[in-house]
Amino acid sequence: MNEDALDQFALSAAPSADCSLCPRLVQFRTDNHHKFPDWHNAPVPAFGPATAKILVVGLAPGLKGANRTGRPFTGDYAGDLLYPSLLKFGLAEGAYGASVDDGLKLTRCRITNAVRCVPPANKPTPEEQKTCRGFLAAEIKAMPHLTSILALGRIAHDAVLSTLGLRKALYPFAHNALHSFDKKLTMIDSYHCSRYNVNTKVLTEAMFHDAVETAIKATRKAT
Ligand code: URA
Repeated sequence: MNEDALDQFALSAAPSADCSLCPRLVQFRTDNHHKFPDWHNAPVPAFGPATAKILVVGLAPGLKGANRTGRPFTGDYAGDLLYPSLLKFGLAEGAYGASVDDGLKLTRCRITNAVRCVPPANKPTPEEQKTCRGFLAAEIKAMPHLTSILALGRIAHDAVLSTLGLRKALYPFAHNALHSFDKKLTMIDSYHCSRYNVNTKVLTEAMFHDAVETAIKATRKAT
């Protein structure tokens, strides 16, 4: 499949704009649509080429960030660390301007979320995480060259393991840990680049860069 066909396949595996699988999230989305009619207020699609070797998995769109703009991490505090880091390590081109028309292009990675719709208080329920897993599975399937998954936070880490049918006890979450699933596919953990983690110094810029570098190195080792 060529690049465009792959992107189309990945798109067809994504939730529709009016996905109704999670009643609480639909209600929240509807309320937000009434309050903020100009916002995206729908499942946020993955961003970046399906031909990439690296998939970054976040938690869920932020209310005033990705849920407003329609692009993962765009306008969210977490994007202020994520996107400059991707640019620094050559996974993206252009400049991050916190809006969908900033011209930023992901060249060597794709970004998605464990849960596609904004959850109240940034907390998807276990049921919502489970329900949205099918879309993560489809995303992974649509990336034929995928070798390295960078999981941002424990929820993303758990979502990847469950999606791949792997036991959590065998792969404990730890910042910058590299979990090899087979010769080709690895997962690298990072603390989520959230405002809370950055402000409390649970995650520093240097620590985040380390995890991104580990993910890139893992793509070189994959056979
Ligand atoms: N915005 C996203 O799209 N995902 C996150 O995990 C956080 C903010």
